[in-house]
Amino acid sequence: MVLMHDVIIIGAGAAGMTAAIYTCRKKLRTAILSIDVGGQTNLTSHIENYPGTGPMSGIELMRRFQDEAVGFGAEIIMGKAVKSEKTEDGFRIGLANGEEYECKSLILAYGKVPKSLGIEGEERFMGRGVSTCVTCDAPLYKNRDVCVIGGGNSAIEGTLELATIARKVYLVHRRDSFRADEITVEKLKNSPNIELVLNSVSTKVIGGKNVDGIEVEDIVTKDRKELKVDGIFIEIGYVVDTNFVQHLVKVNEKKEIIVDERGNTSCPGIFACGDITPVPFKQTVIAAGEGAKAALECYKWITGGKGAVLDWTH
Ligand SMILES: Cc1cc2nc3c(=O)[nH]c(=O)nc-3n(C[C@H](O)[C@H](O)[C@H](O)COP(=O)(O)OP(=O)(O)OC[C@H]3O[C@@H](n4cnc5c(N)ncnc54)[C@H](O)[C@@H]3O)c2cc1C
Repeated sequence: MVLMHDVIIIGAGAAGMTAAIYTCRKKLRTAILSIDVGGQTNLTSHIENYPGTGPMSGIELMRRFQDEAVGFGAEIIMGKAVKSEKTEDGFRIGLANGEEYECKSLILAYGKVPKSLGIEGEERFMGRGVSTCVTCDAPLYKNRDVCVIGGGNSAIEGTLELATIARKVYLVHRRDSFRADEITVEKLKNSPNIELVLNSVSTKVIGGKNVDGIEVEDIVTKDRKELKVDGIFIEIGYVVDTNFVQHLVKVNEKKEIIVDERGNTSCPGIFACGDITPVPFKQTVIAAGEGAKAALECYKWITGGKGAVLDWTH
């Protein structure tokens, strides 16, 4: 028999784990289904705008979120949600490994996924030289040659971090300048082991068993050349992937799940929070706050409006 949870939260990032703290404190049987624990916050080596904790690594901050959610009774189930359907009593979620879970209500908090380049070899070498996480994989490239693709803040931050570990770092950017602040750009230019490959796009990942290099094209001259590297870091931003719930909830043109100011989606019993929604200023503290709101709204829905939703009233 499939165990019926009061609430299943999809995603163990800041939004999902905060939601779990709130639903567990309201004594709702809560499970978090997630691919990883910590989400995008894990990717920042140094977070200093989460109030009350002082600066620390994103991984450490998320470990604290996890300890609190689990401490209040949340069950964490690892896996990728790929299927969702409405049932007589609520909802059923299917994971990629074939497991199924049922619940009375759902909180969608599964954030964003890294954008892909869509070039030959990218998918084939993912995890074998191609990575979307500098913080996670940089230590694998000590004294080796790598390249970073992208021109935004995470690409620049990643390049500077890699330059302290790798022998040489190429930064491939499609424009001839960066939008980041001058001090950061100066750091890039002054690092002896960073080479900027500007006005260029990547066209092919080259390799045998593992990555041997990347082919890049100068968008002005159309000349192509190969950069010999052992690792390729794709840092071109993130997109939401709401495909498996789109038949249940309304999404906007960016595929973000539309919610009201309390986290209600278009489907009664389904709530959403964090980066997966159109909430402005995607930040950890904002995702956490939105998670709290969605959880309280979920509690109100489950108790038919009878449960006290203000934490300080009990
Ligand atoms: C490099 C980088 C640096 C950043 N630095 C900062 C910073 O300094 N300060 C700050 O405030 N914010 C920062 N941010 C933004 C911040 O990390 C996000 O706004 C925040 O993580 C959003 O939280 P979330 O819970 O909504 O989503 P996420 O953190 O994206 O978490 C989503 C969770 O859902 C899981 N998931 C995804 N799809 C599925 C699925 N199909 N099934 C099951 N689970 C799934 C994921 O594994 C993940 O655990 C940074 C982001 C990045 C990428």
